[in-house]
Amino acid sequence: MADKHALVTGGSRGIGRAICLRLASDGIDVAVNCVAGVDAAEKTAAACRERGVEAIVVKGDVSDAEQAKNIVADTAKTWGSIDILVNNAGIVRDDIAIRMSEEDFDAVIATNLRGSFLCMREAGRYMLRQRSGRIVNISSIVGLNGNAGQINYAASKAGVIGMTKTLALELGKRGITVNAVAPGFIKTDMTACLPEKVVTKMNSDIPLKRFGDPEDVAAAVAFLVSDDASYITGQVLSVNGGLDM
Ligand code: NAD
Repeated sequence: MADKHALVTGGSRGIGRAICLRLASDGIDVAVNCVAGVDAAEKTAAACRERGVEAIVVKGDVSDAEQAKNIVADTAKTWGSIDILVNNAGIVRDDIAIRMSEEDFDAVIATNLRGSFLCMREAGRYMLRQRSGRIVNISSIVGLNGNAGQINYAASKAGVIGMTKTLALELGKRGITVNAVAPGFIKTDMTACLPEKVVTKMNSDIPLKRFGDPEDVAAAVAFLVSDDASYITGQVLSVNGGLDM
């Protein structure tokens, strides 16, 4: 994978950080996007460099069209191409539907759905010119099955799957693949606030009897951007310990 250059949105911590480190271990240069927490992003970039690749930090909010354009342009300008886009940035604002505010609904759609669209649109333009590229969108088991208390998140992650398939159709003729990874419950800050009762129940329901690690998701992303996955597009790869079959 030498001479490949990747942009990972929301790459400073959690699953995004694990993806950055895994791609770096596979010899891919990495642009670590962050919206805040530049220090954490710099640490991720430094850890990538320790793995022998180049790494930069590109600050910006993926939900803002101008900033998304700059995030992608800065990556492409640094290396002259953008070969891999991983849309990982995401947020939750949970509540049951009848109580959910419009602000919380819109905020989750803006980052998870619109942000992924904006970055794909920008990166897609470079990849079309290059006639090559790999896009991986981080969806969720919640986008496939729904989840009580997450109507906004479920809509955003189901939408990401719809966009993945649509873009796979649009870009396939230029050799660009677009796939999604749908993690189940993964140990990150996002799930750290789950009540003990929920964690115990999930651990008992998951066939592999544990939450996943960020590295489990990163491994799926690494596969989808590798040459071994060159004939796979428009697919959703579940990484959930068997929770959804
Ligand atoms: P996290 O909260 O640890 O990381 C999310 C990252 O996205 C953070 O670095 C955050 O700063 C960044 N981010 C948020 N809004 C942004 C914006 N507007 N612009 C740029 N960056 C932004 O969460 P995580 O668990 O590592 O989640 C990573 C992805 O995986 C998300 O898309 C999430 O929905 C998805 N996911 C997580 C789980 C899980 O169990 N943790 C399960 C399924 C899917």
